[in-house]
Parts: sequence; C-alpha cells; structure tokens
Amino acid sequence: MTDTIDAATKGDDVLDELHAWLEDNWDPDLTVAAWWERLGLAGWAAPTLPTNAYGRGVARSIAVQIGNEINAFGALGAPAGLGLLLAAPTIADHGSQEQIDTYVRDIVTGQKAWCQLFSEPGAGSDLAGLTCKATKDGDEWIVDGQKVWTSLGQTADLGMLIARTAPDAPKHQGITYFAIDMHQPGVEVRPLREMTGHAMFNETFLTEARVPDAAIIGDRNNGWAVANSTLGHERSGLGSGGGSGGAGAATPGTIAGNLEAPGRRLRPQGLAPQRGG
Ligand SMILES: Cc1cc2nc3c(=O)[nH]c(=O)nc-3n(C[C@H](O)[C@H](O)[C@H](O)COP(=O)(O)OP(=O)(O)OC[C@H]3O[C@@H](n4cnc5c(N)ncnc54)[C@H](O)[C@@H]3O)c2cc1C
Repeated sequence: MTDTIDAATKGDDVLDELHAWLEDNWDPDLTVAAWWERLGLAGWAAPTLPTNAYGRGVARSIAVQIGNEINAFGALGAPAGLGLLLAAPTIADHGSQEQIDTYVRDIVTGQKAWCQLFSEPGAGSDLAGLTCKATKDGDEWIVDGQKVWTSLGQTADLGMLIARTAPDAPKHQGITYFAIDMHQPGVEVRPLREMTGHAMFNETFLTEARVPDAAIIGDRNNGWAVANSTLGHERSGLGSGGGSGGAGAATPGTIAGNLEAPGRRLRPQGLAPQRGG
C-alpha cells in the first residue's frame, strides 16, 4: 500500500516537472531533429532508462503516463521504432558507457533508426539454431547469412545482429550480439510485400558485411544472454503500449526523411490544446 502511494506521488511529481518543462521547451517551429534532441537529452524520450543512459530511471507505468502527457500537451512524442523499444534498453543493460554514449544518445534523439536481425529462415522459434556467422578478421568481423521478418529494415541505420561466432561451442554459447551498420555494400534489405500492398517486413542478406570488435554488445559469445534481454524488453515494452507508452510519434533516422520537417507537422492532431495554454 505504501509503495503504491509512493509511486503515485512520484508519478505526480514527475508529471508536474514534465509539464513545466514542456511549457518552457516545446516549440512547434523547431525541426523534428532539434525537438527530439531537447526531449531525448532531458530524459523524457526513454524515461525508463537509467540516468547514465539518457533516461530518468522511472517505472514503466510512469513512463506510459509521461508519453500520454506529451501527447496531451500537443507536443511531438518520442521517436518511434525498435531503437527506443529494444536497442536502447539492451545497450543500457549490457553495453559500455562509451557504447551508451554512441548508440543510445542517437536513439533517444531520433538520429538513428534500428532494426532487429534475429530471425532466420531456419531459426524462428528455435532462435539459438541460427546459422548466420561472423568470422574474426583483425579487429573486425565478417558476417555472412540471411535474416528474415526484419521489421522496418528499409529505414534502419543500424541493426541488432546476433550471429554465430563459435561454431563448435554448444549452440547457446557460440553467439555474439553486434550493433551492425546497415549502410554498407554487404547488407541488402529486400521487402516482403504483404497482401495489403504494404511491406513492413524484409529479408536481410548479409554478404561479407563488416562489423568492428567495438560494436560487440556484452561479451563475445555471450550474445544469447544479451538477446534474451532484448526479447524481455520487447515483451514488457509492447505489453505496455510500445516502449514509452503513448510516445512513438514518427519514424527516426537518416532514411525516413522526418528529421528536417517542422515538429508541428508531425505532432498529434485533433488533441486538446496545451493544458493551461
Ligand atoms: C509482427 C512481427 C514482427 C516481427 N519482427 C521481427 C523482426 O523485426 N526481427 C526478427 O528477427 N524477427 C521478427 N519477427 C519474427 C518472429 O520473431 C518469428 O516469427 C518467431 O521467432 C517465430 O518464428 P517462425 O515465424 O519462423 O515460426 P516457426 O519457428 O517456424 O514456428 C511455426 C509454428 O510452429 C510452432 N513450433 C515451432 N517449433 C515447435 C516445436 N518444437 N514443437 C511444437 N511447435 C513448434 C510454433 O509455435 C509456431 O506456431 C516478427 C514476427 C512478427 C509476428
């Protein structure tokens, strides 16, 4: 009972702080990129993340209220997509501070979009049976294999890749988790056209694609544990409405073309005017 009251009080305090911050900072004439930079660096884009990872360390229930409050205020919400939902919390859990400052910063500010390169044609439910392999070459890895059902791969700048790095080890112990650059000749994303005409999913072909040692998230050959973190965040994030609750306003990253648009064009339509404004 006491915990519930404490959480409610903390939630009210955080929402009051957010409201005052929005009054001071929301400007519909800012570009989406400039607005997301303010929102993300203030810890409002991914508030469940710890404070060393551009968050505020709040409970998911409060994060949902934060997303709803941003929408109700009439401001543009946090970047949508798998970067905020999956990659950011996984890197906050397993990455170094340098990786957090490289990858998570670009996620919460919407600069980079991510996709999830887990499933393969022969490795869906049996994910640990994956055959995409990464072979060491100096301080880089060469990646060969095929992924499938890559949601939003066509707008991704980076991918959460799991690949086999120790073929002779038991299957759960020979996998490494990488942050791979999607903008390279060895990565080909082919859309899977649905009956609706839309193509949200893709096949992703990796042919001598390269990824540096520095892009390993967690330890080499410990990718199964890291992937399970991602899947845990997927379950809890989707279960609460998609990461930051009512957020997820527009597609982030360099390909979608939203960053230079004015924020006013993408903010929620048809909502009540700003509270108190
Ligand atoms: C909306 C959506 C988005 C997705 N986005 C992504 C993405 O971005 N990136 C990504 O990597 N993946 C993505 N996926 C893929 C998803 O993770 C896989 O679909 C999932 O892992 C299941 O794999 P599969 O489709 O190959 O099914 P299969 O593994 O072929 O399973 C088919 C059926 O057989 C059953 N089955 C399998 N093995 C057994 C067994 N041993 N005993 C009894 N029954 C069994 C399963 O329960 C299932 O009903 C997405 C899926 C969906 C639905």
